[in-house]
Amino acid sequence: MTHSPYKQPLVDTSKDGHVHTFLCRHAIGAMEEYVQAALRKGLRSLTFLEHMEAEIQYPHRSWLEELDFDFYFEEGQRLREVYQGQIEVRLGVEMGYNPDAVDTLRKKLGQYPWDSVGLSCHFFLHDGQHYNLLSNRRENLQKFADFGVDTVLHSYLAMLIEGVQRIDCTVLCHLDAGLRHMPGILFNDEHKRQIHALLEAVHGRGMALEVNTSGFDYRGNPFPADWIITKALEMGIPLSPGSDAHRPEEVGRHFDRLPAYLEVLRP
Ligand SMILES: [Zn+2]
Ligand SMILES: [Zn+2]
Repeated sequence: MTHSPYKQPLVDTSKDGHVHTFLCRHAIGAMEEYVQAALRKGLRSLTFLEHMEAEIQYPHRSWLEELDFDFYFEEGQRLREVYQGQIEVRLGVEMGYNPDAVDTLRKKLGQYPWDSVGLSCHFFLHDGQHYNLLSNRRENLQKFADFGVDTVLHSYLAMLIEGVQRIDCTVLCHLDAGLRHMPGILFNDEHKRQIHALLEAVHGRGMALEVNTSGFDYRGNPFPADWIITKALEMGIPLSPGSDAHRPEEVGRHFDRLPAYLEVLRP
């Protein structure tokens, strides 16, 4: 097929499926500021996807606890009513998979009526201590270099596969963002085999694959890499755009670039 203007769009860029707020303690801005930013961008739908973790041993908390989520749902409900007819406000969660806390995660997830459950994996366990796979803190990066980058990546991908299989989620977030701050990260053949298995699992569970546009800022193209997006499209996995905004002005970031970027990847 050559280019035709009648092709189905690959993503709906009127919907941002992934934003944070001050509640996670490493983003800024109140929920309402994100809704207003989305309106200014002309979006029709905004999904808050706040961080949840369980049983993580790490000195800097970067996720919401129960009382925060209580507030999140109260405020989210208020915003739904205030902005009804202008924009859809959805309340979701970015669940950080922890293979040692599956029961706790299931229990926490069962406490609220999520519109969207994103699966991520942010922490790597070593000797009873967790290290943040997405952080640029020197102490994390040094440790990953010590552990061996290939080994850590293998473990990261294995945890994602397991998370997809063991917990009910709707979307896989920023698939290849693990170790995004380590210079010169390359997937070896075994990692690529794992990524195929991960996509099979995502497909089998009826989940979507997030196209995370924060990648444009980190590395010039979205997460995940182009060949992974093409593979997902070949398999019929739906794509879900998310800005991963940690500031209101990042809502819908680079969404204008997505249609042309993805069109080239159409299998
Ligand atoms: Zn975050
Ligand atoms: Zn996020």
